[in-house]
Amino acid sequence: MNRRRFLSSLPPLIFAGAGPARAATARFPRTSSVPGGIARVRLGAGGDAPRVRTGADRVLVMREGGDWVALVGIALATQPGSKLSVEAEHADGTVERYEIVVAAKAYASQHLKVRPGQVELAPDDLARYERERAHLAGVIKTYTEEPPSTLAMAQPVPGKRSSSFGLRRFFNGEARSPHGGMDIAAAEGTPVVAACAGRVIDIGDYFFSGRTIIIDHGAGLLSLYAHLSGVDTSVTQKVGAGAPIGKVGATGRVTGPHLHFTVYLNTAAVDPALFLPGP
Ligand SMILES: [Zn+2]
Repeated sequence: MNRRRFLSSLPPLIFAGAGPARAATARFPRTSSVPGGIARVRLGAGGDAPRVRTGADRVLVMREGGDWVALVGIALATQPGSKLSVEAEHADGTVERYEIVVAAKAYASQHLKVRPGQVELAPDDLARYERERAHLAGVIKTYTEEPPSTLAMAQPVPGKRSSSFGLRRFFNGEARSPHGGMDIAAAEGTPVVAACAGRVIDIGDYFFSGRTIIIDHGAGLLSLYAHLSGVDTSVTQKVGAGAPIGKVGATGRVTGPHLHFTVYLNTAAVDPALFLPGP
């Protein structure tokens, strides 16, 4: 039996910090069906968790009250107005399909003028970047069955958070990839902690992101910490929420020390602020 259900877009929740009305019912992550956001799809009650996919990617499913709920990360590159299909296979074999209509969200733009030739990578750097991009794309597809015990995260380093997630960058009028994370200002050497419990699945020194750690929190929820000056953990190590994993630095392509923090859900980089308490 194939029932078809269509979700119209949920009312967009635009968060300007933790508003007083919402603070009382704060639950994580905050959801809204926009590029870089997270859609919440109710799957009904039932004994076992449904298996949920969007495209080729498995989707995180959690209990919320008596119901199963899918939390679907929406990639920043998704066009507003487009429809994302989500398929839930229930334990009894029935399959339900849902459609998420992606609403628009205006992210800031930044236009930079640079000397022609300064934008392009040298052939060696380009080859290195391509290798690293392929490696990281593989890491980000990690899906382990055990879901995270909580979706409320801790800020990985104290400091001022930039609101630059989703920033659309243009060099000499040419679009570059948007900013997929949150930058937190902190001095070189400041300890960085795991935002949530999980297992370290990748450590590297990459062209753009410098020394980087990626943690798997389960069910397609990952976090990434970049530009580190030091790494105090190792691949396969289990870490608790708040456990020290490294130090703030300025490695990779950056102009000064800060932590770049990315959260992935079903391979989409989503706004880390959705998982953090108000600033
Ligand atoms: Zn950044």
